[in-house]
Amino acid sequence: MTERPFSVIRGGRLLDGGTLDGKHGDILIEGDVIREVGPASLGVPDDAKVIDATDQLLTPGLVNAHTHGDVSMAKGLGDRLSLELLLNASPLTSETFRLEDKYLAAKLAATEMVLSGCTACYDLFSEFPIPSPEGLAAVGQGYADVGIRAVVAPLMADRNFWQAIPHLLEALPENLRSQVDKTQANPAEASIEACRQALDGWTIDREQVRLALAPTIPHHCEPSFFRACRDLSNDYGAAIHTHVAESKVQAVVGFKKFGKTLTAHLDDLGVIGPNFTAAHAVWVDADDIKLLADKGASVAHNPSSNLRLGAGVAPVRAMLDAGLNVGVGTDASTCGDALNMFEALRLANYLSRLNTPDPDKWLNAKTALSMATEGSAQVLGFEGLIGRLQPGFKADIVFLDLRRIQYLPFNNAVRQVVYQESGTAVLHVMVGGRFIVRDGRIKTVDYDGLRRDVDRLNDRLHNETQEAKLLVSQLEGVVGHFCVALAKQPYHVHRYIGMPPET
Ligand SMILES: [Zn+2]
Repeated sequence: MTERPFSVIRGGRLLDGGTLDGKHGDILIEGDVIREVGPASLGVPDDAKVIDATDQLLTPGLVNAHTHGDVSMAKGLGDRLSLELLLNASPLTSETFRLEDKYLAAKLAATEMVLSGCTACYDLFSEFPIPSPEGLAAVGQGYADVGIRAVVAPLMADRNFWQAIPHLLEALPENLRSQVDKTQANPAEASIEACRQALDGWTIDREQVRLALAPTIPHHCEPSFFRACRDLSNDYGAAIHTHVAESKVQAVVGFKKFGKTLTAHLDDLGVIGPNFTAAHAVWVDADDIKLLADKGASVAHNPSSNLRLGAGVAPVRAMLDAGLNVGVGTDASTCGDALNMFEALRLANYLSRLNTPDPDKWLNAKTALSMATEGSAQVLGFEGLIGRLQPGFKADIVFLDLRRIQYLPFNNAVRQVVYQESGTAVLHVMVGGRFIVRDGRIKTVDYDGLRRDVDRLNDRLHNETQEAKLLVSQLEGVVGHFCVALAKQPYHVHRYIGMPPET
């Protein structure tokens, strides 16, 4: 019989997105699960190991609803990039990765996240040009070795960015066109087969790391590809995560191609349901929001990325009012930049204030925290398992140091966490009852070794991407101009702030 040792965390203050509001309390843990949450001096078994949390505030581990682990090697590589210019630069990120690089990139992303209090994420990892069972296993192992939870969803498409935007190829000079108009043989079939093999052969505990499917962007994938993903999802219970109307260009192109919104298009293909996540969903209309809510789907809201890429402001209040589940994500290291969930949840809160002068419609601190914990947990399909400090939930706990300046004086736990915290007070992080971070240091990773490995890979990537850099820079002017013109076309919703529609 497996030993399930008890431990008790005493002396801390407890906060979550539900009923806990920062008052003192104790937590009894059995193995990897929270057994009891009660007042200070909670009665516990005699052999329970005592963990002292004096001057500490305990919150559930934050849950990152949307990121791209492969991009962790590309920090700082772009500045004034729209989503389309970022996609144009995609050859510079992970296209030359070897198997061990995929493991390392996942490990790097996981380490960054857990050091700032994030204990689970939804990683839409890209393996160019198609996913592989070994690659997905390596990414999963990266997360498992760091010790956080993850849903790993291979990004997939059957046409590339330049092919996906109508008439963009024709706008390119011939020499550039021939360099980007490359077609992979049967990418959809090969991708689906790789996912099937990966799902069949998955050996990592699914409560730690599980697989999902990420057909990347609706107009980058044939309808038949989405249907194949839907069938695979039904066969294996794997979730589907897709970027939906992230930018105005996507919304405009979608309407041109399908004669309806991207959400309506995906619904026609039968992919929208409780295990479907729409990433970003900035340019969705009221019918799209109602449809997503009625079908029990989720949205991964990425406030920092939407700001960085100039995508517009997502209508989060309308989503919540419609009963739609919304989680919070950081997106990737080239757009959301820091994989810092405290930053992301604060921006989610602030951005809600740009839609209306009515404070009653703004997100409050508790809602933002709830979205970044329980809301994101539901996005990952981990609802009821993580995201609260409640009996029956996994012991995924962040210990914040209340001696830090942002808590001096201590007045209100949830507001000070949401409005003041940036991750600098993260003292310890526990996942499943095990300390992954202790006194601000990661215990599961040789950090100096990680630095050496990352520097070595970075040098190699810089050498290997010289030609791609030249190509990307040559494409940038035409692609940028073409996509700005698309974004200026009329659309029936408006998500830019501070300017009238269609300017
Ligand atoms: Zn994304």
